[in-house]
Amino acid sequence: MKVRVLGCGEASDPVHPNSSVVVEQGDWRLLIDLGYSAAQKLYSCYPDGEAIDAIYFTHAHPDHCFGLGPYLIRLNDRQRKKPLQIICNPDSQERLKHLVEVSFWGIDKPWSFDLVWITTDEISSVGPFQLTFASTTHSVTNQSILVQGEQALFYSGDGLVGQEGEQLINKADMAFIETFALTEQAGGQWHGNLPHTLKLVDANPDTTFCLYHIREDFRENMMLQVEGIERVLVPESGDLFDMASGEITHDA
Ligand SMILES: [Zn+2]
Ligand SMILES: [Zn+2]
Repeated sequence: MKVRVLGCGEASDPVHPNSSVVVEQGDWRLLIDLGYSAAQKLYSCYPDGEAIDAIYFTHAHPDHCFGLGPYLIRLNDRQRKKPLQIICNPDSQERLKHLVEVSFWGIDKPWSFDLVWITTDEISSVGPFQLTFASTTHSVTNQSILVQGEQALFYSGDGLVGQEGEQLINKADMAFIETFALTEQAGGQWHGNLPHTLKLVDANPDTTFCLYHIREDFRENMMLQVEGIERVLVPESGDLFDMASGEITHDA
């Protein structure tokens, strides 16, 4: 399995694209989240209109899903043929459908490809991956995902990871954890924070952790605080993790 980081930024980050990754196994690709500023990186990394097989949305906040409409228009322009699966929690689905409807204003049907809408209570596998979900504490319904293939990846989405999520992290070789704030107080009740993430690191000695969605003015300090901590990384857009070998490469 490989994980390509399209973006690692917070909701309105001035530098880093919105947090988004592509999970690959063989020639099968699952995109996780697609915010407004991650879409361009997706186009440059995966110019082929057939490259992405399914998209999982952790929740329907703009920094996690507003790239969907433009991406679908691009796929239609490039005459994609393969159906595209869109997976999300039941509370997000109507909002995402509305987003697609708004985006396609003036574009006549039929499109060149079909959308297949699936909610998280209807699915346990996609392509070569087993999928498991766990809710976080966020201002809207957000579900973390465990993707199990040749290796296992956990991606938290937004919000504080609770017990249910911790059980999934326990099965993961690599865990992407939303770590918005430096302190519990600054994170508030809807976001992850560094002390909470470091407890997860301690509790899971076999897992490598990637901290993302860091508040822009905390980023430098957080990087300093985790520097030298084994198994804790702060990824950037363009990073490619080969989960089998542990090798990390970077494309600009
Ligand atoms: Zn967010
Ligand atoms: Zn959010």
